Amino acid sequence: MRRLFDLVGIPGAAQRARLYPHELSGGQNQRVMIAMALAGQPDILIADEPTTALDVTLQAQILILLDTLRRELGMALVLISHDLSVVGETCQRIAVVYAGRIVETAPAAGIFNTPAHPYTQGLLKATPRPQGRGRQLLPIPGQVPEPGNMPSGCAFAPRCPHARGQCGVISPGLLRVSHAHHHAACLLFASDSRSSVPHNPREPANDTA
Ligand code: SF4
Repeated sequence: MRRLFDLVGIPGAAQRARLYPHELSGGQNQRVMIAMALAGQPDILIADEPTTALDVTLQAQILILLDTLRRELGMALVLISHDLSVVGETCQRIAVVYAGRIVETAPAAGIFNTPAHPYTQGLLKATPRPQGRGRQLLPIPGQVPEPGNMPSGCAFAPRCPHARGQCGVISPGLLRVSHAHHHAACLLFASDSRSSVPHNPREPANDTA
């Protein structure tokens, strides 16, 4: 216990271990959760929204802690978050999920600089970013479908500005975008449609992952 508390940066382990959660701060509670997750010496740490409800200072501290632990303990870190800035600062590789499926996966720079899937593009247009200062934020129209009422074909089709006939019929797998490490589940990247894909260089490939 003391070693784990030291590891996650909680001083006075002997005293603090006797406290109830409401007697600890939000950041300390988060560190205790991380210590509990590390107790089993995992090879992979899955952190699901680890910074939710924390102020930006504590957010930064928890993200630095997770990154330090990942490097020092040789773990893989899977970070699940709705916060694009948190993901962008922390992750080497990003998988964007829509309606329960990965719709785009790429190194972090690829997601932010050359987003390929219309959902990823919509997310970035709806998110404040330093380089977009003064630019109007554009919400994605419509709602995420209910799990029991998914549309046929591509699940994003009812909200997609690029939807066409086949999108309501075919649910695309991941297709290569611009290089072997960037894939999107979108028919715009099928071999017969690549000439109409916005924002991305073209390559004559249609392999699935
Ligand atoms: S498959 Fe069609 S509807 Fe789905 S994201 Fe691509 S263009 Fe839009």
